[in-house]
Amino acid sequence: MPAHEHVLIVGASQAGVQLAVSLRALGYDGSITLLGEENHRPYQRPALSKEYLQDLITKEKLIFRSEEYWDEHRITVVKNERIVRIDKDADGSGVAHARSGAQFPFDRLVLAVGARPRRLQIVGADLPGVLYLRNADDALELKARVPAVEDVAIIGGGFIGIEAAASLHKMGRRVTVIEAGPRLVGRAVGPETAAQLAEYHRRTGIEILTDATVSRIIAKGDSVGGVELDDGRVIPADIVLVGVGVIPNTELAESIGLYCDNGIRVDQYSVASDGHTVAVGDVANQPNPVAGAEGRVRFESVNNAVEQAKVAAYAITGRNEEYVGVPWFWSNQGDLKLQIAGLSAGHDRTEVRRDDAKGKFSVRYYRDDNIIAADCINAPLDFITVKKELAKRALKPELERSTS
Ligand code: NAP
Repeated sequence: MPAHEHVLIVGASQAGVQLAVSLRALGYDGSITLLGEENHRPYQRPALSKEYLQDLITKEKLIFRSEEYWDEHRITVVKNERIVRIDKDADGSGVAHARSGAQFPFDRLVLAVGARPRRLQIVGADLPGVLYLRNADDALELKARVPAVEDVAIIGGGFIGIEAAASLHKMGRRVTVIEAGPRLVGRAVGPETAAQLAEYHRRTGIEILTDATVSRIIAKGDSVGGVELDDGRVIPADIVLVGVGVIPNTELAESIGLYCDNGIRVDQYSVASDGHTVAVGDVANQPNPVAGAEGRVRFESVNNAVEQAKVAAYAITGRNEEYVGVPWFWSNQGDLKLQIAGLSAGHDRTEVRRDDAKGKFSVRYYRDDNIIAADCINAPLDFITVKKELAKRALKPELERSTS
């Protein structure tokens, strides 16, 4: 790519930041604009539900890079601008229009626009005190309310719900987690691991309800007062935190004709269906050698955002490197450290290893006697062993080359 060209990265979170950094690391000499809609310098999200919520770290600790870094690397960071329209030519260049009226021209467009929380659609869901936790402003609002709160109801027993539950419980609040499915973190772990997680959290004093459907949120004065379940039970709540999954932000991509289906479909180089636009992070749906029958997946994880962005930086600088990473996740929940390597979907056998005296627990997932994934609780060695094994196999992928 010639030096005078300009990459515009829309979305200044984990994937967008990594892409800007990787472009410079690879020697890309054109101009780079990293644009985000939030009124904060680019920051890391994982601590929002943990250390930051508990006031164990300051906001400054979340910030990705110093102002000096961005200046020295000639990366223009734009805050507080929301792109609402894109005009794009057949060669991939164009202009992005912000709600403020500002215009951002580009030769190469990157969409690192992430996902937004799925909103609850029930009576009372718009009451003050019904909160979500996706970004720094959400965390600030939650933190501001916690001192006046005794009872917290958390709707959704996924990663956000369970991490925030552990933090809020540590902060001395009475916490009830209400999960619609039969187990915690049902999308990411198997029943053995979910049972282990539930047992741990119940032991610490968190109330966990599964197979529980919320029928409405009850008001107390002009704020929230509780949550009613469809069996009539009422869970008292001074705040309700909702973590019921996310929706990928594909609207801009769709408006410029990119093929989207559960995210923006990209090839193994992170390039979308027009052959020019790049998409990375939670919004991108990409081929992956360990993705099972479908052969592609949209991951919502830090590790994926980082690895995809590195691959995209290669693509933009004209050196194609395939995405062959092994998906992995981590989730710290109080003193419990969950690490997941690979994807367990499609397994035909599991093997549980546990050492209750040491608090270690892991489940290995197999398909046709090949290991495909592992969930590890306080068992980092098991995690590393399985991740290495999966990485060896991922080096020989047969990847889909198109975006269709
Ligand atoms: P999530 O992990 O998808 O979990 C949402 C949970 O809510 C699921 O268990 C879901 O059950 C349940 N649910 C859905 N509708 C419900 C309802 N009406 N009532 C009660 N439960 C309901 O999503 P999340 O926890 O909201 O997290 C948001 C995103 O942040 C995800 O992408 C997550 O991966 C990411 N995140 C990651 C980490 C980490 O990697 N450590 C930490 C925090 C957040 P069903 O599956 O049965 O629908």
